[in-house]
Amino acid sequence: MINIQQISVGEFLAVNCYVVTDEKTGKTAVIDPGGYDNQLDSVLSSVGFENIEYILLTHGHFDHIGGVEKLLSKTNSNAKIAVYKSETALLNDPRRNLSIPFTGIQSAEQIKPDILLSDGDEITLGESKFTVMHTPGHTSGSVCYICGGDIFSGDTLFRRSAGRTDFPTGSLKELMASLRKIAALDGDYMIHPGHDQETTLEEERNGNPYLGGSGYGFV
Ligand SMILES: [Zn+2]
Repeated sequence: MINIQQISVGEFLAVNCYVVTDEKTGKTAVIDPGGYDNQLDSVLSSVGFENIEYILLTHGHFDHIGGVEKLLSKTNSNAKIAVYKSETALLNDPRRNLSIPFTGIQSAEQIKPDILLSDGDEITLGESKFTVMHTPGHTSGSVCYICGGDIFSGDTLFRRSAGRTDFPTGSLKELMASLRKIAALDGDYMIHPGHDQETTLEEERNGNPYLGGSGYGFV
C-alpha cells in the first residue's frame, strides 16, 4: 500500500507534486517537484530525506521540474531521477521546456537523469511498484506512472480535460491515442493529474470529452 500526499508547488504555475510513500518500508518517490518551498520541505522532512529514492518526472516542462535540483541536494544526491528516454532533450532546454516562453527566465537547470525510461518499465519502491506507461501527445516523452490503483497522469489526462498539444514535440493525434490507451485499462483507478483536481478513470470515461464522454468542453 502507498500513502500519497499532494502538494501544490511552483512559483509561476501551480503544479501538483506528489509525495508517494510505500507504507511498509517508508521508501518514498517524489513525482514532479515543480518547485521547492517550505510546505514541501516540511512534508519531506517528516518522510525523511534518507527515504527518498526517486524523483519521477512525468515530462520535462519547467513547471514540473523547477524543484528537482534543490530536492536532489536535500537528499545528498542519493535520489535517482527518472524520465522517459527521449524527454531528456527538453529537460535542460529553456525554450523547449517552456521556461523562457512562460517566465522569461533562462533557467540554469542542469538536470542529469539517472534512469531513462521505456514503456512498460517497472520501478520498485519498497514493496510497491510503479509501471511506466508511455503516453506521448502533450510532449513526445510524456509518461504516466501506475501504482496499484493509482495513476499519476502528468499533463496527459486532467479532470474533464487533457493536456495541450501546441508546445514543442506535442501532437494531438498522439495524445488521443494515449488517452485511448489509458481509457482501455481494466477497471477503475484514481487519477492524480499534474494540475487541477483529482478524479477517477471511470468518471473520466463518462464525463471527459477527450475520452468520448459528455464533459463540458475542450480547453
Ligand atoms: Zn506540461
